Amino acid sequence: MGGSMSALGQNVAVGPKAGAPKQGPASAQTGYHETHPLNPCELEIDLFCKGMRIDPSCALEKDARFIARTRAGLGSGLEIVIPGPRYPTRIPPEPAWYTRSTSRGTPMHKVGVLQGTYLGIYISNSCGFWYHSPPLNCKFCATGLNVGVNEVAVKDVDDVIEVARVAKEESGVTFVHFNSGYQTDRDLDVAAPYVKAVKSRVGALVGLQLIPTLDFWKYDRLIDLGADHFSFCYEFHNAEFFAKLLPGKQKLVGQETFFRALEYTSSKLGKGSCSGEIVAGVEPIEDTLKAIDYITGLGAFPTVCIFRPTIGADMEHWPSPRYEDMLIVFRHLYEACRKNNIPMDVTPNIEVSLIVQPGDTRYLAPDNWASQWYETKMSLAKQLARPYFWWKRRPKAIPASEVLADA
Ligand code: SF4
Repeated sequence: MGGSMSALGQNVAVGPKAGAPKQGPASAQTGYHETHPLNPCELEIDLFCKGMRIDPSCALEKDARFIARTRAGLGSGLEIVIPGPRYPTRIPPEPAWYTRSTSRGTPMHKVGVLQGTYLGIYISNSCGFWYHSPPLNCKFCATGLNVGVNEVAVKDVDDVIEVARVAKEESGVTFVHFNSGYQTDRDLDVAAPYVKAVKSRVGALVGLQLIPTLDFWKYDRLIDLGADHFSFCYEFHNAEFFAKLLPGKQKLVGQETFFRALEYTSSKLGKGSCSGEIVAGVEPIEDTLKAIDYITGLGAFPTVCIFRPTIGADMEHWPSPRYEDMLIVFRHLYEACRKNNIPMDVTPNIEVSLIVQPGDTRYLAPDNWASQWYETKMSLAKQLARPYFWWKRRPKAIPASEVLADA
């Protein structure tokens, strides 16, 4: 923080990429960098690394979306939209339903929040790692400091259905994403009723980000109930950083469990369906590049979160990464996705504000034949996948046997 202005972490969504220039255009109004204006993806990376000062004249509580601070790890902050290829940015409006309550009387914004254009629901904001003595929380995380502050601790299934329905109808949400902290190895069981309810009573693509298990039959059951996507936050590829900075994941889960679960679900759901989530800017950059190669080699896509020190977290004073290093990471990410033919931006209306999405890295693509061919294939895939995703988003009848399995 400095002077009379406030510094905030922010979540950034980059707009449509079609026809976007690789380097910033003359019309750019912000994000100049030494010799040329940054393009939207470069600006996104720069903002994640350096933050942004907000002038006190901005009334964020009136103009911006409610800032929820309880999504796990690095998942909170002010959302802004950088609509490529032009530069002026805008703050997405707060959805009208944020100020309404469910029929049970729960404020809707305490059940789920829009993160970019998808609905993010934290199933339970109590993470078991925080309740050990000494605590075993991930060192960059502040979730345990916010339990019950902004969100309802454990979500009621009917509340979730109501909010998912309204988010689909009023905000055009196509994807509902559940995540949760450590639930003492019951993580996948706890999620099952929510998956079934959203899939059968609302109809949406459903994703899960949970602590993994080696009981693979639980993934099979969740897929039967309607799960379309799994992501695995193993954060650090370097085993020493994993052990040191993620004591709970090291002691009670193990890095190998993350790898095996990602490999299993990825082979089960197919290319581009699952993701490995890592934090960039803490472990040596070579390890981050290895992680990207490993994840894309499995046919999964890398979700790379640029490290941001969060107030109150153990790593509050850890320095933010250098923009130049992050640029290397995201250029590598683009190339790894291209070489492995990982689908980019194929699913409808999913703009994720917490990270630099793989699709955003198109702005970093070298101007050559290989990039153009990849671009052509991705736009074809997007057209061809439309009916498939329409079908996937219809409410799905769950057969009786699966209901019994769930009960
Ligand atoms: S698993 Fe780690 S990042 Fe997630 S809520 Fe628990 S301590 Fe935070």
